[in-house]
Amino acid sequence: MKYEVINRGDRVSAELANTFHRLAADEQLAHDPAEPDIVVSIGGDGTLLHAFHQYVHRIEQTAFVGIHTGHLGFYADWKPEELEDLVRCMGRESALDEKIVKYPLAKVQITNESETQSFLALNECTLRGFESTLVAQLRVNDEDFEMFRGDGICISTPSGSTAYNKSLNGALIHPSLETIQIAEIASINNRVYRTLGSSMVLPRHHHCDIYPRAGRNIVLTIDHLNVDIGNFRSIRCQVAESKVRFVRYRPFPFWNRVKEAFIGDLLD
Ligand code: NAP
Ligand code: MN
Repeated sequence: MKYEVINRGDRVSAELANTFHRLAADEQLAHDPAEPDIVVSIGGDGTLLHAFHQYVHRIEQTAFVGIHTGHLGFYADWKPEELEDLVRCMGRESALDEKIVKYPLAKVQITNESETQSFLALNECTLRGFESTLVAQLRVNDEDFEMFRGDGICISTPSGSTAYNKSLNGALIHPSLETIQIAEIASINNRVYRTLGSSMVLPRHHHCDIYPRAGRNIVLTIDHLNVDIGNFRSIRCQVAESKVRFVRYRPFPFWNRVKEAFIGDLLD
C-alpha cells in the first residue's frame, strides 16, 4: 500500500502528519507522493479539496481519507485520536476495493474562441459577476431555459451540496444520487427580469450550458480555485463520468454527518 499525507500546515496538523509517517513505517506502508493508492488529508474539508486537485490526474487510482483537526468535516470525518486505528486499517486491509465508496463529481467544460478546457469539481463550480451583475443565458439539454441576472450561479455535486450550495438554500443531496444541482446566487426578479428562483437538480446525461453576456467580467471558481480562462464563450456542466473514491474503513452515514455538522445535540 502506497500513501501520501497532505496537511493544512498549522502546527497540530503538521505534527499529526509526522506521527502518521512514523506509524506508517511500522506498518510497512510505502510513502510514495508520486503514485499513492491512498492520500490522507489532515486539516479540514478545505484541505481535502486541495488534496483532491493535487491528485485529480490519478482519479481512477488514488482514494482519499480525511482527518479533521478542527470541527468535524464532510470529507474530513476521522478524529485525530483515531489516527492510529486508521494507519492500522491501511496496513491490514489488503482488498482496498471493498473499502471504497464513490461519490459523483461535476464535469465543467469551458469553451473560448479556439478551445475547450475540462475540469472536475468535487464541491462546486460558481460563476459570478465581477464589478457588475452576471447576465447569462441558461440552456438545459440544448433548449433555452432562462436569462439569468443576479450575483451568480452555483453548480454543485451531491457531496458539495452541504457547502456553498447550502448557504444558497439549495437542497442537501445524498451522494449515492448521480446529480448536479444548479442554485441561484441572489437573482434579480421583478416585472422585467424573471428566473426560476428555486434550485434545480439534474440527473446524469442532462447538461446545462451557460452563455454569459459578452463584455462583462466574470469570476469562475472550481472548488477553492479561481480559474483564469480569459474571455470564454460558454460553460457546460454535467455529472462527470469519473467519480472520486473515498476509503471507508468504518461507516459514517451521510445523514449522521449532516446532523453532527449542522444540528448537534441541542436536546441533550
Ligand atoms: P473556506 O472559506 O475556508 O470554506 C468555507 C467553509 O466550507 C469551511 O468551513 C469549509 O470547511 C466548508 N466546506 C468545504 N467543503 C464542504 C463540504 N463539502 N460540506 C460542508 N462544508 C464544507 O474555503 P475552503 O476551505 O478553501 O473551501 C472552499 C469551499 O468553500 C468552496 O468549495 C465552497 O463550497 C465553500 N464556500 C462557501 C461559501 C458560503 O457558504 N457562502 C462561500 C464561498 C465558498 P473546513 O473549515 O473544514 O475547511
Ligand atoms: Mn477551509
